[in-house]
Amino acid sequence: MSENIFNFSAGPAAIPKSVIKKITSKIIDFDNGMSILEISHRSKKFKEYAQRSQSSLRRLLNIDDNYEVLFLQGGATHQFTMIPQNFSNNGIADYLITGGWSKKAAAYAQYHTRVNVVSDSSDTNFTNISDKSTWNIFPDSDYFFYCANETVHGVEIHEDIDINAPLICDMSSTLCTRPINISNFDLLFAGAQKNLGIAGLTIVLARKEFIKNQGTQLSPIMRYEDHSNDNSMLNTSPVFAWYVAGLVFEWIEEQGGLKKMANSNKLKSKLLYDYIDQSDLYNNPIKPKYRSWINIPFTLSIKNLDDEFLTLAEKSGLYNLKGHRTVGGMRASVYNAMPIEGVERLISFMKDFENRQ
Ligand SMILES: *Cc1c(COP(=O)(O)O)cnc(C)c1O
Repeated sequence: MSENIFNFSAGPAAIPKSVIKKITSKIIDFDNGMSILEISHRSKKFKEYAQRSQSSLRRLLNIDDNYEVLFLQGGATHQFTMIPQNFSNNGIADYLITGGWSKKAAAYAQYHTRVNVVSDSSDTNFTNISDKSTWNIFPDSDYFFYCANETVHGVEIHEDIDINAPLICDMSSTLCTRPINISNFDLLFAGAQKNLGIAGLTIVLARKEFIKNQGTQLSPIMRYEDHSNDNSMLNTSPVFAWYVAGLVFEWIEEQGGLKKMANSNKLKSKLLYDYIDQSDLYNNPIKPKYRSWINIPFTLSIKNLDDEFLTLAEKSGLYNLKGHRTVGGMRASVYNAMPIEGVERLISFMKDFENRQ
């Protein structure tokens, strides 16, 4: 991001400016005059870097040795397939459908297992989640899958979910936005391009016992245990994306860690929700309990005003506020890398725009 613009994209998303500055020099020289773009994932220098980045993430999230940290390719969507392939022992899995991403995960899983839909809030246009007491949980489910933050719909589950089955979570847009209790989960994953850098890398955290001897009928590239045995270097690693993620982890540590991130994300989103809620022009339809701290969709109450809003916003240096094509309206994504000044500038723009109507 250059100095005077703010990128509200949901992903690929804003990256801290200081990280981008560091990358620039390493594009020229990372290792003895060789660019980060041309070095081997098996070079000594990169292997050291890979270890360092993993240690940094382990410190940030407080990950103990019972958990494997994997740096894979294929995006979060690839996980939607790997998960049911690896863990279909009883042949049925629970899916909590709270928005576009968990819905897609359930649809992908159907190629490999029977999917038991625990609850599906599409009848509310994904603005609410039904109470846990009403969930249809299958007793012998192989695992329970949910998405902690629905990036498209702006729905976030803020509490831990207490379930008997192994718990699997899509944290693509929330990993590292707040502290989490890793031991609640058996496997969780996040594509890097929301909060952790650029596309091409997916972080997977998995309990070692959980992935052991699973998916033995699969080819190695589809098996978590094989990736783990080869230290995420079963095949060519996404070196550059991994490098960027390592810098982002270090940046988060420098900022004061995940508590700091959480406070800042909570504050940024609160400013925006408070403004939206008292305004006549703007509206956020999500039940307050489930409002996301990082993806904030909103609509305008006057018809045919969206394009003008977006054009003027862009002229003010406020980019990528258009909502997802399946939802419409606007969406402001205020990930870790979005400074509070960006949110203040957005609110001030929204006020001016509203006053002119
Ligand atoms: C972006 C996103 C995905 C998809 O990520 P890809 O890297 O494009 O596969 C999945 N789940 C959530 C919650 C996301 O935000």
